[in-house]
Amino acid sequence: MKSISFDIAALILLVVLVASRTSSKMTHDRSSCIFLIIILTAIASTVFDIASVTLDSRQINNLALVYTVHAGYLITHVLTVPLCLLFIISLTDTWHKLHRNTVFRLLMILPIALLLAAFAVNHFNNIIFSVDGGYKRGPLFGLMYIVTALYVIFVIFYVVRYRRLFGLRNIIAVSAVIPIDVTAMLVQLFIPSALVEMFFGAVALLIMSFGLQSPEDYVDTFTGLMKFSAYTHDVKRAFYNDKHVCIIMLNFANYQNVRAILGYDPSTQILKRVADTIRRVNKKMRGYADMYYLDNGRFRMVFREENRDKAGPTADMLNQELKKHININGLNINLAPFMILARCPEEIKDFKALMSFGMDFHEKKIYTGQVMFAGELYDEKQLDIKNNIDRIIEQAIENDSFQVYYQPIYSTGQGRITSAEALLRLFDPQMGFISPEFLVAAAEKSGAIHLIGEFVFEKVCQFIASDDFGKLGLDYIEINLSVVQLMNVDLADALLSIMKKYDVSPDKINLEITESATAYEQNVMKDNLNKLTQAGISFSLDDYGTGYSNIKRVIQLPVRIIKLDKTFVDEINNPKMRIVIKNTVKMLKDMNMEVVVEGVETQEALDVFSDLRCDLIQGYFFSKPVPRNDFVQYILNENGNTRHPRGI
Ligand code: C2E
Ligand code: MG
Ligand code: MG
Repeated sequence: MKSISFDIAALILLVVLVASRTSSKMTHDRSSCIFLIIILTAIASTVFDIASVTLDSRQINNLALVYTVHAGYLITHVLTVPLCLLFIISLTDTWHKLHRNTVFRLLMILPIALLLAAFAVNHFNNIIFSVDGGYKRGPLFGLMYIVTALYVIFVIFYVVRYRRLFGLRNIIAVSAVIPIDVTAMLVQLFIPSALVEMFFGAVALLIMSFGLQSPEDYVDTFTGLMKFSAYTHDVKRAFYNDKHVCIIMLNFANYQNVRAILGYDPSTQILKRVADTIRRVNKKMRGYADMYYLDNGRFRMVFREENRDKAGPTADMLNQELKKHININGLNINLAPFMILARCPEEIKDFKALMSFGMDFHEKKIYTGQVMFAGELYDEKQLDIKNNIDRIIEQAIENDSFQVYYQPIYSTGQGRITSAEALLRLFDPQMGFISPEFLVAAAEKSGAIHLIGEFVFEKVCQFIASDDFGKLGLDYIEINLSVVQLMNVDLADALLSIMKKYDVSPDKINLEITESATAYEQNVMKDNLNKLTQAGISFSLDDYGTGYSNIKRVIQLPVRIIKLDKTFVDEINNPKMRIVIKNTVKMLKDMNMEVVVEGVETQEALDVFSDLRCDLIQGYFFSKPVPRNDFVQYILNENGNTRHPRGI
């Protein structure tokens, strides 16, 4: 005797599943619709199953009804796996590939078409089943299993082939379904009275529904737009499938400030208003763009191939709307909407480049108020370097291709070059010259800065220990230390042991630091500074006047030399700045500090800073940073003259 209790449980599960999916926000997209059809098919299948058992048990002999119920059950049942295949194709958005590949398309359609044809003629020849004298399997009943197995293979093939478009979570969800379904089918095959197949199927769908990325994972609760994860998924998929899309990238240049000043609630209100405007404009322009809110005041609209021409007019209209003030709590706020149109892949050809360009274009370029094209702003080389910086650094370390250049520093008192700054250089075989600022920032993040820092330090020690250096009569070499290096507990010991290895006297080395306020609070940094100072090494405070290095630091830190940043030089024609420079130099000298000025390029600047009694001067006026041998040659030539030939 067959029991329908498993079927009833399956029905309840499936109905709950339909309710939960239809009440969520994402049921309108193609894959969600197909998933809903799969659940509805499973419901139909279960209902037919219950009906057939009920008819059998009540011995109702209405043959037409019994036939319809059994046929309904078998057909709906056999449709589930092909529908799953459609679902997976739409998840990966690869329909267009199917259009191009006729063989695969035929392979996909033929088996189920054949089976449905067999069902169509079954009424006449009973090849699949018959109901005369009770339900019986026909000679071709096994065809159902063969066809289902075929579609299971297709599903596995698709998931493996397009695994990059799925994400691990989706792969696990889809894979979990297959063993459950197969087990259920086998149980049903060998024990026909155990009606567990529908129940197992319902559990499988439940797992899939919760396992697959759910709408809540995709939708930002405040703005109602899709989230960062949805954006990366969709854009990655578009690049992978060679789809031509156009993206409006909207970054608010002022958002961080507004948020810092107004606080959380008002800034969230602003985001909501912006999201409403985006939705409204999107609707009006009928571009049917997908809309996203990433984070930190960054919004995106992605136009598919067929609507790409709508992106430009939409961006213009949106720009007009968003440039208006937003009134929050009686305050009129202007967010400076920085809007870029990026045609992909023409202007930006890969996902990684798109993401790093989108991250901070509003910080790198001046806000003009106009919508701009990505092609106008996008520097492919810079971005390439940024994306590959870890590999570049690794290779440079492996191939020993970092170099140390030296830039002379001129003493106004002695009228000759008395020291130099060591500066890191890298010429990558593919990317060319890479700015040290860029390198150092990346190396700080990856941790490679410790290796690079020790490399520079060792090169300088080698130089100081060489005979060449002895001939030059230089007092010391300045070496830049990154704040991240200073936070390394082993820094002082590592540097001191390198000095010991080359027998370098500590007075030949001066370490340059620029540090942020928070970093100074770290005990490790203080310990390093103390250890190195006690060992006899002196310190400079680099980039004085740029924000981080202020007068409080000068007093707190054990520094002997202050390096005025190039920005002082750039403004020497401003009379107020001259007063600042004059008094800054005086104040520092009164504190027994030595003052270096960086970035002196002209005779005029040299005269100004010499008159102001700056002790040391560094800049292109004397020399750019040059390789060690050129530097040695330069000093031998220049210091051969008693007064500097460029003459003070
Ligand atoms: P910094 O320590 O302030 O170095 C001075 C920078 O100003 C150097 O840039 C130098 O080439 C440049 N400079 C000097 N005179 C002039 C001039 O007259 N005009 C102009 N326009 N520029 C001038 P560079 O070599 O590109 O280095 C940039 C920054 O990268 C350095 O700034 C420093 O913060 C960092 N850096 C360089 N080498 C190292 C290193 O070995 N370790 C660490 N941690 N940082 C380094
Ligand atoms: Mg420096
Ligand atoms: Mg500097």
